[in-house]
Amino acid sequence: MTELIDAFTIAQAQFDHMAELLNLESYVAEMLRFPRREYKFQIPVRMNNGTLNIYYGFRVQHNDARGPAKGGIRFHPSETLDTIRALAMWMTWKTAVVDIPLGGAKGGVAVDPAALADSEKERLCRGWITEFWRAIGPRQDIPAPDVGTTPQMMGWMMDEYSKMAGAYTPGAITGKPVGGGGTLGRMEATGFGVVYTLGEAIKHLKLDPSRCRVSIQGFGNVAQYAAIGFSEFLGGTVECVSCWDRRDLTSYTISHPQGVNPRDLISITDPYGSINMDQAYEKGYIIEDGSAWIQKDVDILMPCALEGQVNAETVKSISDRVKIIAEGANGPTTLEADRFFEARGIFLIPDTLCNAGGVTVSYFEGVQNDMNYYWSREEVIDRLNNKLTRAFADVLKVAEAEKIYMRDAAYIVAIDRVVKAMKERGWLYVP
Ligand code: NAD
Repeated sequence: MTELIDAFTIAQAQFDHMAELLNLESYVAEMLRFPRREYKFQIPVRMNNGTLNIYYGFRVQHNDARGPAKGGIRFHPSETLDTIRALAMWMTWKTAVVDIPLGGAKGGVAVDPAALADSEKERLCRGWITEFWRAIGPRQDIPAPDVGTTPQMMGWMMDEYSKMAGAYTPGAITGKPVGGGGTLGRMEATGFGVVYTLGEAIKHLKLDPSRCRVSIQGFGNVAQYAAIGFSEFLGGTVECVSCWDRRDLTSYTISHPQGVNPRDLISITDPYGSINMDQAYEKGYIIEDGSAWIQKDVDILMPCALEGQVNAETVKSISDRVKIIAEGANGPTTLEADRFFEARGIFLIPDTLCNAGGVTVSYFEGVQNDMNYYWSREEVIDRLNNKLTRAFADVLKVAEAEKIYMRDAAYIVAIDRVVKAMKERGWLYVP
């Protein structure tokens, strides 16, 4: 049988597995298995050549029992409602695992942002808000940047929202530029968060971090800061990173005989996470096929690129030395690969915990916007570290008490918190 790796299938299959384990009532499972609300809307945009293009925008609010729905907006040519549904669902679990008072949402537009001029991007961003602003806001649903969107785009969106609402409302959108209502520490939040949870896992397994080697898939925002944190905070060695080269549409794995120096490699990487292969070669890096990252003889695998990358097929080639999987990406591991890790006793730091640093600092941004008072970078990073360390301990406690896999433990923590909020709000009241 071929393995299903589409994102919503993975998200629902993970949830179904937990609903059965937790013996959830059927109406509770039904409510959580599907989003509360989903929207698809047209955004007409006047292009610079005078033509009018019609784009399609999406927003899925999976659950907002614990607070306003929260999640990014992706601009991607092959964006579909199914991917957005999955990502919205994962956001619900993520905000609950790290215990921030928010729900889960995700949005997007089917568009290739690289094909648009800045002025066209601005009109598309403002159009997304004009069409949809009534369903979002600091107390309803708070978008943020994601794949293909940037802090500048969030600045335009926040400005448009404020115009529509008739009042400066920075808390309606997070991930804004610093100085324009954004928070310090957001750029590095997700990658550093990966390293804070990884540091706890290394401690738990009583490994020496300075002797640990990591292989990373991807070299974008998450992977770059995770690589810096891994080598600079934990003193470990980055064996290799991988990336997608947009010039020849091929993926590569890049390693170095002395280990990768993340800052050196960042200096030859474009803003989309594509490393310049010619310059890498000149600097003495070894370049292999994109699939090589998962086969390396390392202690830790860190998928930080796309969904479904660690699957029934790719998992067969991982080394016996691998002890930890740190999921920087959303949904990188399929159910079959999960069962493989569980059987081998490999310690997993699930995505909802591992990459929750971004949404945690987005939440801090909203708090600062509400207060109209801004923290120092150190204060933001300290609070992030505390929050993720606490969340790791909460999940580990359940995993140890119930003798279960870390993903299952994270789901139990998250589902318990969400269902409790739904019950307290009377959503599940049966007379
Ligand atoms: P990004 O666009 O900055 O980087 C993606 C990287 O993956 C790039 O280096 C790209 O070249 C590489 N890549 C793409 N396809 C590849 C392939 N087939 N093989 C090897 N490399 C490939 O994205 P990002 O913000 O770093 O996000 C990465 C993942 O983390 C996504 O799953 C995203 O949803 C998730 N995530 C991001 C954040 C955040 O704050 N940025 C937060 C939580 C989760």
